[in-house]
Amino acid sequence: MNTLRLHNTLTRKKEDFIPIDSDHVRVYACGPTVYGRIHVGNARPIVVFDVLIRLLRLRHAKVTYVRNITDVDDKINIRAAERGISIDELCTETIDTFHQDTARLGSLDPDIEPRATHHIGEMQEMIMTLVDKGHAYEASGHVLFQVSSMDTYGALSKRSMDDMIAGARVEVAPYKREAADFILWKPSNQNQPGWSSPWGWGRPGWHIECSAMAKTYLGEVFDIHAGGLDLIFPHHENEIAQSCCAHGGAHMAHYWLHNGFVTMNDEKMSKSLGNIITVTDAANKYRGETIRAALLSAHYRAPLDLSDNAMRDARNGLDRMYRAVGDVVAIPARIDEEFTACLLDDLNTPAALARLHELATLANKGRAGADEALKSSAAVLGLLQQNGSAWAKADEIVRRDGIDDTAVDVLIMARKQARADRDFTTADEIRDQLTEAGIILEDSIDGTTWRRRW
Ligand SMILES: [Zn+2]
Repeated sequence: MNTLRLHNTLTRKKEDFIPIDSDHVRVYACGPTVYGRIHVGNARPIVVFDVLIRLLRLRHAKVTYVRNITDVDDKINIRAAERGISIDELCTETIDTFHQDTARLGSLDPDIEPRATHHIGEMQEMIMTLVDKGHAYEASGHVLFQVSSMDTYGALSKRSMDDMIAGARVEVAPYKREAADFILWKPSNQNQPGWSSPWGWGRPGWHIECSAMAKTYLGEVFDIHAGGLDLIFPHHENEIAQSCCAHGGAHMAHYWLHNGFVTMNDEKMSKSLGNIITVTDAANKYRGETIRAALLSAHYRAPLDLSDNAMRDARNGLDRMYRAVGDVVAIPARIDEEFTACLLDDLNTPAALARLHELATLANKGRAGADEALKSSAAVLGLLQQNGSAWAKADEIVRRDGIDDTAVDVLIMARKQARADRDFTTADEIRDQLTEAGIILEDSIDGTTWRRRW
């Protein structure tokens, strides 16, 4: 069997993947902080690492995939207060929509999806160990990890201590011994979620959550830890610090995988640019499988521009492949070797998709078995899971392609009138309705202009 090679952020190199136990591969990925709907950038690691898990399952007897849910975080407290609902209500609602989104994207559920609030005891235990071993200290109701207590701190992100001190914000909390020290536990007031602890009523910091949950389900050292590029520092660096200092070994995970960013028409997605596309927004226009194919169209470590064109290309590609497979059935033994070789090379999904298109060409030319090979291989990417006729039929359903230009102009006029009448409630409702339909309004002294988000 050919070797799987993965790019390891720890070494910045592609390495042969050698699991600790070849019969049981253990993988952890950081999951969502549940305060709002996920956007297509958040969807990328979900889909990419789902492909990794499907590939590992073909090669190893058992794979345990843990992806957590962060349900205690200050962003959650703030959002719940803004919306005037309880933290519980917000978390329940967000977890529900998250599961709807992952299902739409055709991602398999992780084997274990632990919630942070169900593991406070394990977090406190780890914090106590870190304090006992001299890696953490208590100060004013907080417990902080002392970064200088670990010689190899910064190894994942390749940052030196000087960089980190220079990078720390000028305003350093007075209870910190050193600017780079980070929070393991912090005090809560009456309006914040909290638990009793040896350090008083409080709540955990974000980083300790993942260290404690990974240890609970995967042990002190496991095979692969995955997440987005933005998590390398500080989140993953701090997870390594906590876990390694608690158990005294050199590693938390042997391989660290990070996916690249998603941009929208070559711009970073951000609130201020108004170009954040949630999975729900995208699913109003494209099927989940199309979004999935688009997310796999670039190599996972490369940036991915998820423009409307990329989505259309993905849809056209699926149309073509579905026509070629018709209604054949996937059989794991028929997976194409050239296709597998692409994935074994650090999950090269664009090359794997190109091979699927070659198989579609061969199937169209009547090459025996090409349609079965296409269907069976595509299953490793989580694609072509329905039969060709079902796909074609669903395509005939008119999908909401947004709102037409005349309707936008009419609503903008109505909003202008409402504002002139000082009926700001109506004006805001109209703006919300347009935002929902993917229309961005820009008000200026010359009047209101608009553009489509997509
Ligand atoms: Zn994490």
